[in-house]
Amino acid sequence: MNMKEYIDEAEAALLHTYNRYQIVWDRGDGMYLYDIEGRKYLDFVAGIAVFALGYNNKAYNDALKAQIDKVIHTSNYYYNVPAIEAAKKLKAVSGMDRVFFTNSGAEAVEGALKAARKYAFLRDGHTDHEIIAMNHSFHGRTMGALSVTGNPHYREAFEPLIGNIRFADFNDFASVQAQVTDKTCAVIFETVQGEGGIYPATEDFLRQVKALCEERDILLILDEIQCGMGRTGYMYAWQRWGVKPDILTSAKAIGCGVPVGAFMMTEKVARQSLTSGDHGTTYGGNPLACAAISKVIDLFDECNILDNVREVGAYLYERLDALCKRHDCIKAHRGAGLLQGLEFDRPVGDIILKAVDNGLLLINAGANVIRFIPPLVASKEHVDEMLAILEKCLA
Ligand SMILES: *Cc1c(COP(=O)(O)O)cnc(C)c1O
Repeated sequence: MNMKEYIDEAEAALLHTYNRYQIVWDRGDGMYLYDIEGRKYLDFVAGIAVFALGYNNKAYNDALKAQIDKVIHTSNYYYNVPAIEAAKKLKAVSGMDRVFFTNSGAEAVEGALKAARKYAFLRDGHTDHEIIAMNHSFHGRTMGALSVTGNPHYREAFEPLIGNIRFADFNDFASVQAQVTDKTCAVIFETVQGEGGIYPATEDFLRQVKALCEERDILLILDEIQCGMGRTGYMYAWQRWGVKPDILTSAKAIGCGVPVGAFMMTEKVARQSLTSGDHGTTYGGNPLACAAISKVIDLFDECNILDNVREVGAYLYERLDALCKRHDCIKAHRGAGLLQGLEFDRPVGDIILKAVDNGLLLINAGANVIRFIPPLVASKEHVDEMLAILEKCLA
């Protein structure tokens, strides 16, 4: 079948929840994806910040194949070696004390919200606790994650969502303070807002919210599903300022393509929140998924991924700044490491379509922002190649 025939079949069988680009993928290699007609694309999307190690990484593939030949799935009612190793390594790189593996980012957020509510419940026995979330946030598509997602467009048709959520403005401490009550049990936000347009939390905001949380015994939940796992040049973005959350969510790049996520917590929260019978998942942390996490963390170290992100991220920053100066239609440039965004004075859909036609994959973050989230193995030459195509599309 050719591409058009495949797409027709897809549209006849799949629920239409995405307006997809007219491409059917065949395979990937390093920074490039190839469609079934052999066309090559430079990828600055990485499956939405997932494929950190690039496509077809031999060491990663071999580790997965070896695990497949041993056992793919058992049950969380038993122990398995990959999960033990993955949890140990994740603790070391995240600075957190306890790990719960999930199948996705949204499921990690669900777990984080449950842990926070249980913590507050054990403290005072009440069941009317409140959570403060941010406007323009994104935490996933399940009902609980949607409840803390500050974007009416994603939420409206699905209400009522879980109650007692109050919204504040990101990077505006006074607006957070204004939402605090005696019932507040947690504050949740992304250390770098991703879908909302690539807005990093300021150091001041992080420190002020953290101090408030400590003073009132409110839990700080940082969602690092997109900005975590090396993308900002730190394993987790909070490490840049040392403002440690009580609960941390991770997914996307954590398994580099195997669907897996995690929520993690400090010992203080673990001792006083979810306990046996409170939470579970059939697949979460199965041997295949955890073999992936374990290998990904090893490869981050062996391949000096953080050094590469800092070096190439700084180069990308410089080059995008220069691009801003040459084009009046670009209004702002934000981000860190290999998580950056350019805000235009109009919707960017047409530019992205043109880029795709020219063999470059880009993605938006909100209507007016182009987001740059390549695999973390990108080189300066890949940045140059990307910019040459982008500049052509802006002309
Ligand atoms: C992608 C994302 C999620 C949801 O993850 P899924 O795996 O799609 O459920 C949650 N929070 C943030 C910050 C994300 O970027």
